[in-house]
Amino acid sequence: MSDNDLFEAETLALNSAYDVISKDGASSDEYKFALDNLAKNYHRLMRETRRLIARSDRKELELNTLNLKLQTLTSELDYKARHDNLTGVLNRGAIFDCAEHHLKNHPLSLIVLDIDFFKRINDDFGHPTGDAVLRELVKKLASAINGVGEIGRVGGEEFTVLLPNINLDKAIEIAEHVRLVIAGDAFSCFPRPHVTASFGVSWSDTNCDFEEAYGRADAALYSAKHSGRNRVEADGILNQITLVKHKEISSEAR
Ligand code: GH3
Ligand code: MG
Ligand code: MG
Repeated sequence: MSDNDLFEAETLALNSAYDVISKDGASSDEYKFALDNLAKNYHRLMRETRRLIARSDRKELELNTLNLKLQTLTSELDYKARHDNLTGVLNRGAIFDCAEHHLKNHPLSLIVLDIDFFKRINDDFGHPTGDAVLRELVKKLASAINGVGEIGRVGGEEFTVLLPNINLDKAIEIAEHVRLVIAGDAFSCFPRPHVTASFGVSWSDTNCDFEEAYGRADAALYSAKHSGRNRVEADGILNQITLVKHKEISSEAR
């Protein structure tokens, strides 16, 4: 639609007003008619403009509400893409991304833990009880580390804790504390007295390859499983260095 069509009535009123102004000796009736015509059209123009402004305000409000909804949905989607929907902790992809990010910037200790004989819990008490055990274990794990590291679910009943800027000694201590918290009080969702987990711990310096760092923690976990479960094992080479350091410190103290 062109501007002429949109303001056709107003243009006609304006043109007849100009005609009267430019006419020599126009009568007062002609002036009155032109002015009346102009006033009516001016009034209509104001009414229409108010209506359009109100409509555009309403549309702007609707658009803002839709934008807010979109932002909420986007952050919900982002959260879901990064978190495990059963336990609420970071999922495998997200925790591995975090670990890689940490390793680019500072040393990192890694704890990998795996519930012992979890298959039996499922087999004997059913999958929903198994799920409840996973959820309760994560609660215990979170309260045991008390915000010191980031927790992620790596697979079925396997979790990892990232401990940036924490040395191997301290990481072993934290893993041991978590082990005791899990093995200590019975799980409220589970009729048997004890659920236990095995732990592997590794420490890696800045710029260490993540796969390699994780592999060493995983090898330590494997060793914990094969040494009887419900125990903490540390990355072999580094742990020996730590043990030597312990011996040196205690002989110096003598
Ligand atoms: P180990 O002490 O050697 O770790 O033995 P395990 O029985 O814990 O390990 P295994 O790998 O034999 O069994 C793990 C089981 O975990 C098998 C799988 O069905 C179960 N599982 C994996 N994900 C879930 C889950 O989301 N919910 C439940 N309830 N079970 C799961
Ligand atoms: Mg297991
Ligand atoms: Mg496993």
